[in-house]
Amino acid sequence: MKGKLLFDYIVIGSGPAGAVIAKTLTDDKKTSVLLIEAGENRDQDQPIMDSTFAPELEESFFPNYFWQGEGVPQENLDDRSFEWTTGRLLGGGSSINGEQYVRPTSAVFKEWEQLLGPMWSPDKAIRRFKRLENYNGDTNNTAARGFHGRIDIRQAPEAPTALAEKLTLAIEQATGFPPILDYNDPNTPLGPFTRWQLYQKPNGQRESSSTAFLSSNIMTPTGQGKNGRKLTVYFKTTALRVLFHRKRAIGVEVLKEGKRIRAYSRKKIIISAGINSAQLLMLSGIGPAKTLKASGIPVIHHNPNVGQRLTNHTLNFAVFSTNPDDPALPADDPNALYTGGAFLPDPNGDNPDRRAVQLIGIGSEGQLTIALLYLRPQSRGSITVQNNDPLTIVLGNEGFLSNPSDMEAVKNIYKIYIRNIASELAQIDPSIRLISPTLDIIEDDSKLEQFIKENFDHNHHQQSSLRMAPINKGGVVDRFGKVHGVKDLIVADASIIPFTVDGNTSSAAFLIGYTIASQLRYKTSRSRYAERDEE
Ligand SMILES: Cc1cc2nc3c(=O)[nH]c(=O)nc-3n(C[C@H](O)[C@H](O)[C@H](O)COP(=O)(O)OP(=O)(O)OC[C@H]3O[C@@H](n4cnc5c(N)ncnc54)[C@H](O)[C@@H]3O)c2cc1C
Repeated sequence: MKGKLLFDYIVIGSGPAGAVIAKTLTDDKKTSVLLIEAGENRDQDQPIMDSTFAPELEESFFPNYFWQGEGVPQENLDDRSFEWTTGRLLGGGSSINGEQYVRPTSAVFKEWEQLLGPMWSPDKAIRRFKRLENYNGDTNNTAARGFHGRIDIRQAPEAPTALAEKLTLAIEQATGFPPILDYNDPNTPLGPFTRWQLYQKPNGQRESSSTAFLSSNIMTPTGQGKNGRKLTVYFKTTALRVLFHRKRAIGVEVLKEGKRIRAYSRKKIIISAGINSAQLLMLSGIGPAKTLKASGIPVIHHNPNVGQRLTNHTLNFAVFSTNPDDPALPADDPNALYTGGAFLPDPNGDNPDRRAVQLIGIGSEGQLTIALLYLRPQSRGSITVQNNDPLTIVLGNEGFLSNPSDMEAVKNIYKIYIRNIASELAQIDPSIRLISPTLDIIEDDSKLEQFIKENFDHNHHQQSSLRMAPINKGGVVDRFGKVHGVKDLIVADASIIPFTVDGNTSSAAFLIGYTIASQLRYKTSRSRYAERDEE
């Protein structure tokens, strides 16, 4: 058709998954890709580039960088509701997030492998992380780390503050876990440490999927591939739905700078829209038939699993007073952002070798806050469209604490870890005192429950709403990301995570994008660039 916009692949969303896919697929200089991104390229804006803005971004959700939205009131949290958002700019969540780089442990990938086969094994995952990362830090296991990939990872700060050392010592004494040098070394997934690994360039500026994979040597500022790369990026363009011919995905309808247009693909459409991917599938006719019909959406394929099994980590806080002369970050490295931390097992669980808790030291004037994440929640939520209008927000129900075992786990983190860490900290430095929650709250079960509810938050680690699994195991996509029941449609992003990851989610999104793109390249071109995963 004359004037028809036609590409080999169309990728929706430029977050960690979408950006790595767009770059990888166009590396051969033959394959054409249209990358659709609702936001703009804001890489040069100071709040995006300058890492010291990360904490403010995480709290303020500025409308110029974030999708604006709220989840449904949470029944188990006194009907409080929470932000339902991700980055709405080139780089997606990776352009606005807290910059922590945490790979899932091998225990998680063993589960993936059992369900999905060797393509997702711990060894394969490590091999791919090595290709992706350029680690600028210390490790006892160089064989497990990458030093030539495109994603700059900085272990920071060079010299930890005394406060970070005190926290690490207190955690060691309270838990018995000795300090670790590199929590991303598969041999040392547990223990306290003074230095986080951050998505940062060596100079401390933010590294995002945009700066790593869509940088000025890959494309022009207006989104045209450089040096023969057949990449086109449409900014300010929102995908409304995928178009089908019978059961084959053939194109995408989008709103480009206010105009409705259609673009078509010769090969495949890849949805990498993060928390919006479930909505896009449903608007395109894939989901629970009853919901789709009630919303006036023609059903292309009935799959009741779409939007189910939404999982997110829990987040709570413990606040300590500190000596104001004891700075949380070194004066010469404010980009270091965090003041030590730890990965620990469930304090009351039956698996002492398995990571279940993340502690993050965060300093401010005269205070040290420990953020505590429970990484193995059993609660599940859901995402549902309200109608067939793409501009109507979904009902994102996170289902926080809907499984009572999660409340028990969080209580135990306070009762065992926080109480003991507080006692060790007070001995190491009497000026470090637990001020919230107070000990009397920690010792009283019902007061502690109320405190946890009021203090509750989340770290935007939404995952698994479009689970990568067979249909009879709650699946929406297969191990290659292909959507069950239709042809030439893939979802590749954090929403297909099959088993909850035990750390921040963006590394898994990068891995998923890279793995699926590598598979596509191998299958289509069998070129020398392609990774053969089934070898
Ligand atoms: C405040 C905050 C702090 C976080 N901190 C950390 C951290 O420290 N470390 C970490 O690892 N993870 C962190 N995360 C989580 C992490 O950023 C996400 O898990 C990750 O970005 C998910 O990657 P993704 O590729 O699945 O999707 P996203 O990064 O969400 O990217 C999706 C992209 O698709 C675009 N898009 C969506 N819908 C459409 C549409 N209809 N049309 C066109 N484009 C569309 C979006 O604009 C966005 O650019 C944080 C997240 C938030 C929000």
